[in-house]
Formats: sequence, structure tokens, C-alpha cells
Amino acid sequence: MLLNFAKKRAFPASSAKPSPVFVPLGYLPKRTVQRAFSGAETALPGPRQAPKKTGRKALPVKYCYEELFKRTKKAIVKYNMLADEQGVMVGLSGGKDSATLLYVLKKFQPLSRFKYKLAAGHIGLGFPGEDVSPLEEYCRQLDVPFFHEKTKIGPLVFEVRRESNPCSLCAKLRRGALNNLALANGYTKVALGHHQDDVLETLLLKTFFEGNIASFNPVTWLDRKGVTVIRPFVYAPEDLVAHVAKECGLPVVASLCPAGGLTRRQDMKEFLRELDALSPEAKDRATSALERLFEDKWDGRK
Ligand code: SF4
Repeated sequence: MLLNFAKKRAFPASSAKPSPVFVPLGYLPKRTVQRAFSGAETALPGPRQAPKKTGRKALPVKYCYEELFKRTKKAIVKYNMLADEQGVMVGLSGGKDSATLLYVLKKFQPLSRFKYKLAAGHIGLGFPGEDVSPLEEYCRQLDVPFFHEKTKIGPLVFEVRRESNPCSLCAKLRRGALNNLALANGYTKVALGHHQDDVLETLLLKTFFEGNIASFNPVTWLDRKGVTVIRPFVYAPEDLVAHVAKECGLPVVASLCPAGGLTRRQDMKEFLRELDALSPEAKDRATSALERLFEDKWDGRK
């Protein structure tokens, strides 16, 4: 049913073909690429050709979704992210990453051997003009409970504290509010949409600007709160997540934050983009290196 919903949103009968989105194929298994371009699949639109300059092609949405699902499942299984009778609240920020995570976890729910309840939680930052109705509607379509907490984190960070590095305090306060929202409604796990690029951007930021080799972990147990934070997209590159979000027509609410796109993280994003153009496997290799380096820390139970 959900895939039908995605197909209808992605390819509405009345509209023309969706605008092309090009996905690097370097991180997709050779077999998947061969299957996708063999012509055997007729239910979905045919492969779209990439600009000659980069030599990249685009895959039909089905294969991108399969790849994203596979990478998400790998993280969930490897790090035991789910368990019976534990409620999982997805932090639905309004961005593409969390919307896609909610979609994938909803699809994963009936396939998992664990029985868990799923919900979405949104923390309003208090910027003028915030509108959560698209997120509410999205959750209604997915049949997932939606929880919303209004805060004044935005004005506090930008007007009262006038932070030179607003993201650090903002993210900390927002995470705290989300954890509280989850606990108050009976959910002991919080799932965040951080993907592979986020992991590597954080690594670069900490290494180059703090002199500390570190990044966040797939599973973090917050013992003082009694909450476990999970990040099922740690193996999923951002462009794969973005492609699935776009092709499935998932709702994205534009950020009203004045710091959006002007952060050091954005610089690291550009850096990774250039690296990806040089070697499409580089991000997977860097993630494996990080995983080996922090073998114990990556599993929040150790
Ligand atoms: S970009 Fe804005 S909303 Fe996002 S973490 Fe930074 S300050 Fe907060």
C-alpha cells in the first residue's frame, strides 16, 4: 500500500514524467546496476541518461529504494537497533532525511521480527511562520501518530544568546526536547535521520576545527534519560536518501532558520561532494575506517 502511495506521489497520472534526478552508481552493487539496466523491469520508467560530462546514470526509483532499504536494514541488524515492545519515535524535522527515515521504518515494521510501535515527533523551533500541517498530513497518510512540541529554541539561540555557533546549542536543545517528548509519550527509542554524509561531515568538522577525531555513533544509550538514540541511515549516502525522498514525493518543509546553508557543515558537504566525484567509493571506505576505529563506541550497548 505504501509503495503504491509512493508511486502515485512520484508519478501522478496527470503530470508529465518526473524531473530527472541523477544518482551516482558507484556505491550500488554491480548486479543491481546490471539488473536495473537489463530492460527486464517494465513497470517503472526506463533508465534516464546522465549528463555525458560526469558519465553518471540514474536508476529507476525501485532500485534506489531497494538499495536504501538494504543499507538501512544492515545498520538496524548489525547494531540491534530494534527490540520487542519498544516504542520508536522518529524525529521528524521537516527535512528530507527524517521524512525518508519514517517512510523506510514504516515499511520495515511488518517485515521485522520485532514488534515495535512507531511514531513521529516534531520540535517546533519558534521561528515565525512555522507550519506543521504537511507533516501532520504525511503521518496521517502513513498511519503513524504525530507528536508536536512548540519551543522557543530559535529566538533563544539567535536573539537572547546571540550564539556565534548557533547550531551547537540549537541541536543540543532540540535533541533534549525530542527525547523528553518521546519519553512523555511512552517511546524509549528516538530515531534520527542522520545519514552517512552527516557522519563524515561531523568527523571532518571535529577533526579540522576541534582537533578531535570523533563522530556520532549508530546507537547511543543516554542512561540518565533512559532513552536510546538510533541512526539507521549511517550507511546511507545523502544523495540516495534525497533521490528516494524526491521520487516518492515525500513532504519537505523549507527551513526558516537564518543559519541554514551558511554553516561550516555546508563547507564540509561541498568537500565531500568533490571527494565523491573523484571516487564514488570513498565515502563507504571512510565509513568502514571509522567503524573499525570506533568498533566499541559504535555499538551503544558496549
Ligand atoms: S541550521 Fe538553524 S535549525 Fe539547524 S541546527 Fe543550525 S541553528 Fe539549528
